[in-house]
Amino acid sequence: MLDVIKLLPDSVANQIAAGEVIQRPASAVKELMENALDAGATQIDLVVKDAGKAMIMVIDNGCGMSETDARLCFERHATSKISKAEDLFAIRTMGFRGEALASIAAIAQVELKTRRREDEVGVCIVNEGSVVKEQSLIPMSPGTTFVVKNLFFNVPARRNFLKSAQAEMRHIVEEFIRVTLMNPEVGFSLTSDGKEIYHLYPGNLKQRIMGLFGNSYEEKLLPVNQEADRVRIHGYIVKAEYAKKTRGEQYFFVNKRFIKHAYLHHAIENAYMEMIPKDSFPGYFLNIEVDPADIDINIHPTKTEVNFLDVKLIYAVLHAAVRKAIGQHNLSPMIDFEAPADLNDDIGAATSGARPIVFPQIPVNPNYNPFSQSTEGHRDRWNDFQQRRQTPSGDWRLLYGERTDLADSPTEAEPQAQTQSNDKYLQVNQSFILTTVKSGLLLIDQHLAHTRILFEKYLKQLENHDGVSQQELFPQAFTVNANDASLLKELMPVLGSLGFVLEQANPTTFMINGTPSDSAGHDAVVLLEKILDNYKINRTDLQLDRKLGIAKTMAVQLAIKSQTQLSELKMQNIVDQLFACNVAEVAPNGKKIYVIISMEELMEKFGRSL
Ligand code: ADP
Ligand code: MG
Repeated sequence: MLDVIKLLPDSVANQIAAGEVIQRPASAVKELMENALDAGATQIDLVVKDAGKAMIMVIDNGCGMSETDARLCFERHATSKISKAEDLFAIRTMGFRGEALASIAAIAQVELKTRRREDEVGVCIVNEGSVVKEQSLIPMSPGTTFVVKNLFFNVPARRNFLKSAQAEMRHIVEEFIRVTLMNPEVGFSLTSDGKEIYHLYPGNLKQRIMGLFGNSYEEKLLPVNQEADRVRIHGYIVKAEYAKKTRGEQYFFVNKRFIKHAYLHHAIENAYMEMIPKDSFPGYFLNIEVDPADIDINIHPTKTEVNFLDVKLIYAVLHAAVRKAIGQHNLSPMIDFEAPADLNDDIGAATSGARPIVFPQIPVNPNYNPFSQSTEGHRDRWNDFQQRRQTPSGDWRLLYGERTDLADSPTEAEPQAQTQSNDKYLQVNQSFILTTVKSGLLLIDQHLAHTRILFEKYLKQLENHDGVSQQELFPQAFTVNANDASLLKELMPVLGSLGFVLEQANPTTFMINGTPSDSAGHDAVVLLEKILDNYKINRTDLQLDRKLGIAKTMAVQLAIKSQTQLSELKMQNIVDQLFACNVAEVAPNGKKIYVIISMEELMEKFGRSL
């Protein structure tokens, strides 16, 4: 019988391999850009035509190649980056398989121009479907230029599988972003069909993020820096108030290589948990640096998965890093949150006589758009709020352009008139607080608002250990099972920070000698049971959130309930305190605290336009 096994010619083998490595124009873009980085380029320019289907060009000023290497680089498994199996475990370059160029050349027309600094001239090689068509010497400046034309010209099935130019371009931009983010010290540009889309100057990571996503990110980012034994996490997260409704800017890198990692993503989401609404996504740009020996980069060339030797450790470090970044941001008060400097005091001191008082002009920001969605975060909202507090005659005046100069109104020229707001607060269904803001009607869920206020208060107490305690005249006994007793003992310092004074009477009984001053009227035993229960339920595998969880339970338990009658003063206090919170929009459980019905919406309901 005849032998049936044949060796495939290289060109066919390369084409088969190419299907794996180069799935779409964006894959070629990624490989070419990574090669340029590996070559030590400081400037890399990407030019595409028809979303890379017609042409992809990558120009770099890196180390270039010798004439021999320029020919060799199209061979399969030709690489300058590893030479022995052990090297696979110490990879610090982006490429290492020596497959990319062989694959690209198998399915496209490739022109390579390259010159090393030490050579007088460069070499130009044209390779089409793995066959060298031309080779010549050319004058050029040091570096390398790859031009890839008519991708998949000899694989029509593949070509037909490509998506619309728009979709393919999106993939290219995404790869461009991933590569450029982690190499901010390198200059990049992207030109598509003759139009420059990105021009990124060398700089730091923050500048790179701004270059890619807009200068507004200057405001939005919080730095993350965390070093642990075998991990270093560095980068930025987006402040909670700028969380997006779509899974937008979420970028994880391991040793600068983009990865997707659901478990680690969860670490971040979890760290943001009580800060952003359920349907919003936090943004982040983080690089995790680990010893290459501690990870297993998926050997598959296009996959973005990575296996960590100790993923739990990374989870813990990542979670702590993000919490720290959020915490630092929230503890340092923003200037905008300070009420206008002691305006009333000054006026009070200067007005002991009976002179009529001239109040300063109300600061009205002419550019402020009351109908803009709260994209500006709480700064604008706070300003809006402050203005409202200083506009006793109601906000509609501002909208209708009426004079709001208080000096005109003698009855309001009492220093008192400024400190005491004339805002009206109405309770709807004993559950919602209704009041007006400059932009329209503000409806607040009283329970959720109060939960947020207390939650932030308890977090601060936990940080400063300054919870106020109220001594119990008749200490209650709290008896638990042995398991809960040990949990409770563990939690005692945390509970102490919040104002609980517990004393262990015997192995399973605790005397409640003091309770948080807020908890008057609440049964301390019930409260502690709830805290223990939730603590057990919420205990993540890493027990990182224990303070947070307890603050949350306390806040939910002690907050004013729905269906509770409130005095106007109480309502005013809630509104005041809510907008002094770091995150006024959402409750710790992610639910929306308030809605604003804009004047525009109201007018529309009455069939009128502004
Ligand atoms: P890998 O990057 O995995 O080594 P490639 O097929 O992408 O494999 O590239 C093969 C080799 O060609 C590289 O190892 C490198 O030596 C050389 N090379 C590719 N692109 C460039 C470039 N832009 N500048 C200098 N050398 C390059
Ligand atoms: Mg490569």
